[in-house]
Amino acid sequence: MATESFGFQAEISQLLDLIINTFYSNKEIFLRELISNGSDALDKIRYSSLTDPSQLDSEKELYIRITPNKEEKVLIIRDTGIGMTKADLVNNLGTIAKSGTKGFMEALSSGADISMIGQFGVGFYSAYLVAERVQVISKNNDDEQYIWESAAGGTFTITQDTVNPPLGRGTELRLYLKEDQLEYLEEKKIKDIVKKHSEFISYPIQLAVTKEVEKEVEDDEEVVEDADKPKIEEVEDEDDKPKEKKTKKIKEVEVENQELNKTKPLWTRNPQDITPEEYGSFYKSLSNDWEEHLAVKHFSVEGQLEFKAILYIPKRAPFDLFETKKKRNNIKLYVRRVFIMDDCEDLIPEYLNFVKGIVDSEDLPLNISRETLQQNKILKVIRKNIVKKCMDLFTEISEDKDNFAKFYEAFGKNIKLGIHEDAQNRSKLAEFLRFNSTKALEEQTSLKDYITRMPEVQKSIYYLTGESLASVRDSPFLEVLKKKGFEVLLLVDPIDEYAVTQLKEFDQKKLVCVSKEGLELEETEEEKKAREEEATQFEELCKVIKDALGEKVEKVVVSNRIVDSPCVLVTGQFGWSSNMERIMKAQALRDTSMSSYMASKKTLELNPSNAIIKELKAKVQVDKADKSVRDLTFLLFETALLTSGFVLEEPSSFAKRIHRMIA
Ligand code: ADP
Ligand code: MG
Repeated sequence: MATESFGFQAEISQLLDLIINTFYSNKEIFLRELISNGSDALDKIRYSSLTDPSQLDSEKELYIRITPNKEEKVLIIRDTGIGMTKADLVNNLGTIAKSGTKGFMEALSSGADISMIGQFGVGFYSAYLVAERVQVISKNNDDEQYIWESAAGGTFTITQDTVNPPLGRGTELRLYLKEDQLEYLEEKKIKDIVKKHSEFISYPIQLAVTKEVEKEVEDDEEVVEDADKPKIEEVEDEDDKPKEKKTKKIKEVEVENQELNKTKPLWTRNPQDITPEEYGSFYKSLSNDWEEHLAVKHFSVEGQLEFKAILYIPKRAPFDLFETKKKRNNIKLYVRRVFIMDDCEDLIPEYLNFVKGIVDSEDLPLNISRETLQQNKILKVIRKNIVKKCMDLFTEISEDKDNFAKFYEAFGKNIKLGIHEDAQNRSKLAEFLRFNSTKALEEQTSLKDYITRMPEVQKSIYYLTGESLASVRDSPFLEVLKKKGFEVLLLVDPIDEYAVTQLKEFDQKKLVCVSKEGLELEETEEEKKAREEEATQFEELCKVIKDALGEKVEKVVVSNRIVDSPCVLVTGQFGWSSNMERIMKAQALRDTSMSSYMASKKTLELNPSNAIIKELKAKVQVDKADKSVRDLTFLLFETALLTSGFVLEEPSSFAKRIHRMIA
């Protein structure tokens, strides 16, 4: 049969070099990765057999079997899963780049551990931690049996298999072990590793153990050796034993398949009998995570509808949490202990895609298809329950400050997305929000805590959005609020503004953006009166400035929100804030038709008590056409753009103006 050669995709080649050459002692994780691949392949064939039972005809039994062959120094791992066609072998094992390949190498160079390989979707290559050469023999129902083979070094080969016994269906991995890795042929070692890393795999993992057994056979004639059992050793009976019939004992080597993982599915057990370690290792087997989970909830729902579930919150976000092409979520769906699918989008909303776990329903039909799942009422109820339990989990985490900080750091974005997407749970989710504020610059505050600090006169919750804490903490928009002792939330994550605009209020208090028009600060009668008086005094100046700036601003008015700065630029109440304008401009490929009417209509607000403004007013009173008035006006406008969080559109004319004035 012709052998075809292929080059590994460049990054995979690099990854293999790294795996082979990095000094790393915890090599045993390769077995976990290969078993997990076998288990995935078994899941796939079982799922497809639900709608087409004949898929199993090629091999009825579903298992993973490990066979150590000491003579040839080969460790064989076979599964009766879905197998790979020739094209699958070429694509999945070497030629198609995965984002995880690069992601994993980057993670390694910044101190990650090789055992994290599974999370990056390149676990197969961990075989090269222990093997110098690997063969993958595979048979899929839609193709012939093929051999993939590689000793790394940049290339692999594919050959149609005419030499090995037919597999029926599935995959057999042959790891030709490196001389110093022969310990992985020891039964005890293999048993220990499986127990440690793969206990909760839901298919039998068998270990082919060889035993010498003594057999008594009649010896009236010459023993004819069984051709199938070549390893028979003859032992003559001891002479001093008297006997009637001549028999002799022979030693025979027998192979027995021992099952290594006999545990019941964890979720079917009583939570009281399950140790934290068991939850931990179940989580690891479910998630490929190398660390334990942050929180877990194991529950069952009974009544009209019955299901059991275990939900986990990881400690960290995966590297590709927001990669849109990725599988949606990580809740595995079982129906009466039978695995159905692990990317059931309808089980949990997208913003909770970081929650891992399993759901086992008593009510769904076994042969449910993806299409019918969508409309399924049972599934909708399950989903509702899961979301509710997630909220409970978050609440539990929030009872421990340190844990919650970790959680929020990893998944705060998801909470904010949830506020945007999930109208039903919006107010619950809002309890988990944490922001910096003018009174919480070091540690973030919850909205609830914010409210406890509100002075009695304050009616609304105030916030300011911007690019970074440094850029907003001294913003002119905060001046009056600081003076009045009103705390302002500082929102510096691009997603914050989406979330907060959607949220609109919390605990019946309106959320108000302090850089937008119509800021109705709680004022005393006197303050109000003073402001109105100033407005009339400055009417002329406002008009002169508006005429000079023309279309650049919508209006020019006297401000109630600044104390020190000469002026600020505020935006329309329902349009974008300066921060949103900046974010939208950065998204280059957006449809630009929105920008024209959403883009901020700017109002220039003047501070009547500021010296520059007073001076300007005096100048205008003397001579409206004073040349320096126009230059000053533009300079004020342009600096206000900067301090108010906008982008300067013509920085060079700004610079020229300054130079001219200095000169
Ligand atoms: P992942 O399992 O995260 O996808 P791997 O590097 O472990 O990443 O495996 C790559 C791919 O190779 C799998 O997605 C699967 O398509 C294929 N594969 C690996 N092992 C097997 C197997 N035993 N049976 C069938 N397909 C397999
Ligand atoms: Mg894998």
